[in-house]
Amino acid sequence: TSFAHFGFDEQLMHQIRKSEYTQPTPIQCQGVPIALSGRDMIGIAKTGSGKTAAFIWPMLVHIMDQKELEPGEGPLAVIVCPTRELCQQIHAECKRFGKAYSLRSVAVYGGGSMWEQAKALQEGAEIVVCTPGRLIDHVKKKATSLQRVTYLVFDEADRMFDMGFEYQVRSVASHVRPDRQTLLFSATFRKKIERLARDILVDPIRVVQ
Ligand code: AMP
Repeated sequence: TSFAHFGFDEQLMHQIRKSEYTQPTPIQCQGVPIALSGRDMIGIAKTGSGKTAAFIWPMLVHIMDQKELEPGEGPLAVIVCPTRELCQQIHAECKRFGKAYSLRSVAVYGGGSMWEQAKALQEGAEIVVCTPGRLIDHVKKKATSLQRVTYLVFDEADRMFDMGFEYQVRSVASHVRPDRQTLLFSATFRKKIERLARDILVDPIRVVQ
């Protein structure tokens, strides 16, 4: 598979070319077409596999399709991950590739300033990258609304569970409308993750790196 197989438009291809990636990684070859089809997906993949781009590129396409249909406030896509560092990394990739369409991303994580994050959310962004507990805090304070979210990603789900975030993860899923597309990434696929997948995904396709 080459990047041309994904059918991305010239703006997104331009950003990908700028990254100097020569070819898609295995998780991208398998995962991108599934994510583009609108199906829910479970990706069993580790850091270094290129999984981040595998959910970001289809997300950008999804947002551009959805934007016209859903005028109003609040993000269209939310990416949930375990740590501040990962939030910042994913946010940086969202900004890099989101330039293709001038999309805005905001990162909200535990330990950062509530006030500054709330301000950034209120300025508006199509993409929010977050740790789960902090996103819920902002929703409760009405700093943002999840009513427009139709693309939801949980990255490193097993690590979030190890950190004790199961309740918060499930809470985020319950705050987002059921007619969304959901992607779940995990390095391992344990019983608890399997149960989560059964509860928050609909008829998912499983991809193993
Ligand atoms: P990830 O597994 O998403 O954390 O990505 C690991 C690293 O691989 C990141 O530095 C990416 O920028 C890079 N990367 C992602 N996709 C590709 C690709 N198709 N070719 C080369 N590097 C890539």
